[in-house]
Amino acid sequence: MLFDVLPGLAQTVPWRPLARLPTAVEPCDAIRDWLGRSGVFMKRDDLASPLYGGNKVRRYEFVLADAAARGSKRIVTVGGLASTQAMATALFGHALGFDVCMVLFDQPMTDFARDALLGFAASGAEIVHGGGYLMTALRTMKAMRRVPGSYLILPGAANALANLGYVDAMLELAGQVERGEAPRPDAIVLPTGSSGTLAALALGAAWLGWNTEIIGVRITSTLACNRFTIDRIVRNTDRFLERHDARWKAMRGRVNYSIYGGALGRGYGYPTPEALEGAERVRDLTGASGEVTYSGKALAALHELARKPAYRDKTLLLWNTLSTPRPALVPGAEARLPPSLRKLVTSTS
Ligand SMILES: *Cc1c(COP(=O)(O)O)cnc(C)c1O
Repeated sequence: MLFDVLPGLAQTVPWRPLARLPTAVEPCDAIRDWLGRSGVFMKRDDLASPLYGGNKVRRYEFVLADAAARGSKRIVTVGGLASTQAMATALFGHALGFDVCMVLFDQPMTDFARDALLGFAASGAEIVHGGGYLMTALRTMKAMRRVPGSYLILPGAANALANLGYVDAMLELAGQVERGEAPRPDAIVLPTGSSGTLAALALGAAWLGWNTEIIGVRITSTLACNRFTIDRIVRNTDRFLERHDARWKAMRGRVNYSIYGGALGRGYGYPTPEALEGAERVRDLTGASGEVTYSGKALAALHELARKPAYRDKTLLLWNTLSTPRPALVPGAEARLPPSLRKLVTSTS
C-alpha cells in the first residue's frame, strides 16, 4: 500500500478505511465476442464496497477523513441529477455520522438518473435542486453559508488528497501483477471527467516505472477535461506526494496518459447509440445495469480501441468505475424530493 512505501504520508495524511481491497482483476470473457478478441481484463472497482462501489470510495477514504479531521459535521456536495459522487457522499457520509446536503445540477434524465434521485431521497440527505450551472453555484454557496464549518466537496473532488486513493490503486494492481494474478496491462481504459482518477493512475504507473498508457475516455466537454487541466492535476498531486515524503522523488518512469474524445457525443450525460450499446455490455460484465454517462461511453471506447491496429495485440484493462451495488429503492421515497425533482422522477417512470 502507498503508506508502506511512503511512510511520511501515513503520519501526516488523514485516512479512514472504507473500501474492501484489493479488488479483483478478471478477464472480460462475457464480452469477448463483442470485443472480437481476448486479452482484455477488468479491474473490479465496481465491487470496491458492498455499500457502494465505483471510483469514489477509494478517494473518500481520504476526503471524508479530512472532513472529520477539520471538525466538520456536515458535508455539502455538488453533482448532476445522476451523480455518483452525491450518492457516495450520502452513503459514506452518513455511515461516518456526517449530515449531508447535495446540490444537484440538471442533466439528461435517464432510468439511471431516476433511480439515483430515488436513492438520494431514501438516503435521508438534504436535497437541493440546483438547476443550471450558475444557479447551482449560487445555491451551493447558500447551502454552505447555512451551517458554518460545513465541508465542501466539488464535482470530481480532484484534489491531491483525494487522488492518493488511485495512486494507491495502481500499486495494488502492481502487487497483483507481481503475484501472477493478472498480466501487466499495456493500456488501461477508464471514463474520465474531473480526471483525478486518470491523473492518479498515470502517476502511480510512472512511479512504478511502467510504460502502461492510461487512456481517459472523455465524458465531459474539452473545456473541463483537456491536457492542460489534467497536467495541472498531475503536477499538484506529484508535488503533494513529494512534499509529504521525499521517497516519492524516486519515480522511475514518465507520466503516460492520453485522452479518447470519440465517445462523448453531445455532451455530459447525453446518450449516443454506442453508449447505449456499451451500457448493455456493462450488464453482461457485472450483472448490474450500465448507464450512458460513464460506463456506457467507456465500453464504447474500449470496443473501438480493442480493434485498432495499435492496440489489437496489446493487453488492455478496463478499470470499472461504476458501482455494481446500488441502494435499494424504498417505496414512497420520492415524497422526500423537492417538488421540481419529484416531477422529473414521476414523469419519466
Ligand atoms: C466520478 C466517476 C468517473 C470520473 O472520475 P474522475 O476522477 O472525476 O475523472 C468515472 N466513472 C464513474 C462511474 C464515476 O462515478
